[in-house]
Amino acid sequence: MARYKGPVCRLCRREGMKLFLKGTKCFSDKCPVEKRNFAPGQHGKDRKAKIVGYGLQLREKQKAKRIYFTLEKQFRNYFEKAARAKGVTGEKLLQQLERRLDNVVYRLGFAISRRQARQLVRHGHVAVNGRKVNIPSYQVAVGEEIAVRDNSKKMIVLETSKEFTSHQPAVNWLEVDRDNYKGRVTALPKREDINLPVNEQLIVELYSK
Ligand code: SF4
Repeated sequence: MARYKGPVCRLCRREGMKLFLKGTKCFSDKCPVEKRNFAPGQHGKDRKAKIVGYGLQLREKQKAKRIYFTLEKQFRNYFEKAARAKGVTGEKLLQQLERRLDNVVYRLGFAISRRQARQLVRHGHVAVNGRKVNIPSYQVAVGEEIAVRDNSKKMIVLETSKEFTSHQPAVNWLEVDRDNYKGRVTALPKREDINLPVNEQLIVELYSK
């Protein structure tokens, strides 16, 4: 699956807010949003008209796509599945994004960013119910156990992530055993469990046109 390979801090600057895509740097004064909070590019500093209507809907969609590192086609597929499912479409959309294996590895605190979590999965360091899964978009289900594989537990990057995320608040729908680098999905995430600066209703409006 293709993915965005350009500089990620530009994505935050484009949205005018921290999307926390890089881990430790996001919490330091080296974060470009702290230093240069204007859009990237030659005209980034130009005065902008207030964004309304379609522009606002588009920005919300872009923000969600960027936070979860998905490309347009995959994101659209998530929306279409959400629209077909029973329940509130926006919530169903976010639920699928949250249930991605790379996101779950990040939420469990085994990686300092979703990007790093994605790499852990891609490189075969993660198992679901005891079997290696190297597909970042794999949708976890209730009851599944997600663990770092035994041979990978000594990686320094895991120790660093454990320290970095030790003060992270617990995630309601996940049970975690940080010392053994494993966790379990105890429920499907509800909207109130998903801490995200995105108005999903605007995304639904955008795709429903
Ligand atoms: Fe975004 Fe983090 Fe880069 Fe800051 S350091 S611009 S929050 S990715």
